[in-house]
Amino acid sequence: MKPSTRVLLIGAAGRMGKTVLDLARTDGEIEIVAQCDLGDAIQPVIKNCDVAIDFSHADAIDEICRAALHDHKPLVIGTTGHSQQQRRKIEDAAQVLPIVFASNFSVGVNVLFWLTRKAAELFGRDFSSQIIETHHKMKKDAPSGTAKTLAEILKATLKIENDLPIQSIREGEIVGEHTVIFSGPGERLELTHRAASREIFARGALRAAKWIIGKPPGLYSMQDVLGL
Ligand code: NAD
Repeated sequence: MKPSTRVLLIGAAGRMGKTVLDLARTDGEIEIVAQCDLGDAIQPVIKNCDVAIDFSHADAIDEICRAALHDHKPLVIGTTGHSQQQRRKIEDAAQVLPIVFASNFSVGVNVLFWLTRKAAELFGRDFSSQIIETHHKMKKDAPSGTAKTLAEILKATLKIENDLPIQSIREGEIVGEHTVIFSGPGERLELTHRAASREIFARGALRAAKWIIGKPPGLYSMQDVLGL
C-alpha cells in the first residue's frame, strides 16, 4: 500500500482549515501529522511532514517560507491577499522548493480560468471585459485572489497595461462566486462559477499536496496539477 502523504496544516482553526481536516479524515492517502494556527511556531513541527498546506493569512508567509526552506519541504499555498513583497518571497522560495500557489483550488474555477483565456483570445480588444466577485462578509481580502488571477489572465491575453474593473461584493454566507463579462457591440457573454461548498477547495488542496511530492523546484499552479 502507498504510504500516506504526511501534511502540516497551517491555519487549521479557520474555515478552510476545518474543512481540510474533515476531508482528510476520509482520505486514506493523507495523514495530518501537525496543525498550526495563529501564535504556534511552524519551524518545530514542519520537519515531520512531507508537505505543508497553508490556508491562513498573508502575513504568515515569511515564517512559512523560512521554515520550509530550513527543512526543504514542499508547500501548497492557498492563502490569498499577499502584497507584492510577499509574492516575491514565494517566488524566491520556489527557486529551491516545489510550491503550488493557487488562488483557487476548485476544478470548476480552473476551467473558468481556461475559458476566460480562450474567450479573450477570440474576442480580442473589440469586447470590453469586467469581473464581479461575491463572497461572505468575513472574507478579509478584496478583491479575491481568484478575481485577481482572472484579471491577470485577461491582461496577459489582451496585452493591456491598465487594470481591469473588478467589483467586489461582500454579503451573507456566500462561499464564492466569480463572473467574467465580455461586452461587445450588441452582445454580451457572461461566464460564472458558483462554489456551493468549501470542500471543493479542500479537495483540490489535498490533490495538490499529493501531486507536489518529488517535483523539481518551481512555482506551480492548480492548472499544472490538473494538467489543464
Ligand atoms: P479564516 O479567517 O476562517 O481562517 C484563517 C485561519 O488562519 C484562522 O484560524 C487564523 O487564526 C489563522 N491565522 C492567521 N494568521 C496566522 C498565522 N500567522 N499563522 C498561522 N495561522 C494564522 O479564513 P479562511 O476562510 O479559512 O481562509 C483562509 C485563507 O484561504 C484566506 O486567505 C482565503 O482567501 C483563502 N482561501 C483560498 C482558497 C483557495 O482555493 N485557494 C479557498 C478559500 C479560501
